[in-house]
Amino acid sequence: MNIGQKILELLKKEITEVEYNRYIKHLTYDTRKSSSDLAIFYVPNTLVLNWIKNKYTSKIEHLFELNNKAKVTVKITLKNFETKTTIKNEIEKKPTQHSLLNPSHTFDNFMVGGSNQFAYAAVKSVSEKAGEVYNPLFIYGGVGLGKTHLMQAAGNVFQNQGKVVIYTTVEQFLNDFIRHLRNKSMPLFQEKYRNCDVLLIDDIQFLSNKDSIQEEFFHTFEALKGAGKQIILTADKHPKKIGGLEERLQSRFEWGLVADIQPPELETKIAIIKSKCEINKVVLTNDIINYIATVIESNVREIEGILSKLHAYSQLIHVDINLEFTKNVLKDQLQENLANLTLDTITKSVSKDLNIKPSEIRSKGRSKNLVYARRIAIYLCRELTQNTMPQLAKYFGMKDHTAISHTLKKINELLENDEDFKVKIEELTNKITSSY
Ligand code: ADP
Ligand code: MG
Repeated sequence: MNIGQKILELLKKEITEVEYNRYIKHLTYDTRKSSSDLAIFYVPNTLVLNWIKNKYTSKIEHLFELNNKAKVTVKITLKNFETKTTIKNEIEKKPTQHSLLNPSHTFDNFMVGGSNQFAYAAVKSVSEKAGEVYNPLFIYGGVGLGKTHLMQAAGNVFQNQGKVVIYTTVEQFLNDFIRHLRNKSMPLFQEKYRNCDVLLIDDIQFLSNKDSIQEEFFHTFEALKGAGKQIILTADKHPKKIGGLEERLQSRFEWGLVADIQPPELETKIAIIKSKCEINKVVLTNDIINYIATVIESNVREIEGILSKLHAYSQLIHVDINLEFTKNVLKDQLQENLANLTLDTITKSVSKDLNIKPSEIRSKGRSKNLVYARRIAIYLCRELTQNTMPQLAKYFGMKDHTAISHTLKKINELLENDEDFKVKIEELTNKITSSY
């Protein structure tokens, strides 16, 4: 058995049989290309690639580390896709490269409804008259609502007209800035950003509290705006609410037009799902589409995740996608979301509901209200996260795991005998799990 197989065997013990058979079983280890600090695994199928990568890479790295007593980078990739050198390059992190525009982020592929029509119309009109109508155009809204898609749709139009378009995240802009500073090549940096035709900067909220880059960005902004070049910015909130921004930047962000994107309503979600199905060649019946649209609250990225998972599962285990199957996959998704729930989030929810500060819930206070809130928080943390009893004891400032196990025993008694307590626990469980 090679080391890769051995690690997968160890992983098998940590996950469910279904998970193992569905994913891990399909991984193969490349003994030839792997080395003492790099482990390469292959998956047979593009569709499951990201899913496996996200969910298992760090687990596998951890097992390697335990086994080798040294850090190993795990690469999960499609068979015959990457050579060892390109992977090595990736690890060594080559100088900042700008993300290219995603060619499928087009206006045609963007489904318009009440929630996003204002932003859509604004970006569309900017794409027809660069630099002339709204400059800058500032789009804001929650995660996965289509801000990057819309911004890049305009970028694609401009690029097709032969304009020089720079699309960048704040992080890339910052890395580029630092690299030029280090290489003493700031004039090149300035030339690059101040001479493009269109500048698209994504997730501008990350400028917050980064003074030197705000200064640099201010000058870039002035140069472009002065030359009538189009600037489009996105953020997760309105410029006024970003905080940690220089006054002069904040006010400039509002000079052109500020447009928001709201979570999609049911019909828009249905239209989006249908369009994504068409693009990805996934066939779903209307009842399944409606089901997904009702269960997924707003994040369109999550909808896409579900579709590719449905497709991938059905290919891997050779079943047709029916409603029951969809429900199971969504259940998995929900569990995966829950895996991201932290002790802090749960404690905060309990705190908000019962109007008791998180610090008090975690204190040693013995008043009746505090004990009540603490019991609820401990129970929910135990049920909804994977934290062990010693970890919970530490978090809640208790002596050791026996204190936690004692509390849990008490809670279980209450759940059997105290109807009000039980209702409260159910209500909070629903609240916390449905917002995830
Ligand atoms: P944001 O930048 O707001 O977090 P993205 O633009 O990355 O969100 O969108 C997430 C995913 O959802 C993308 O793949 C995008 O194509 C898709 N998407 C979002 N809104 C729509 C929409 N109205 N029509 C079609 N696809 C959409
Ligand atoms: Mg985005």
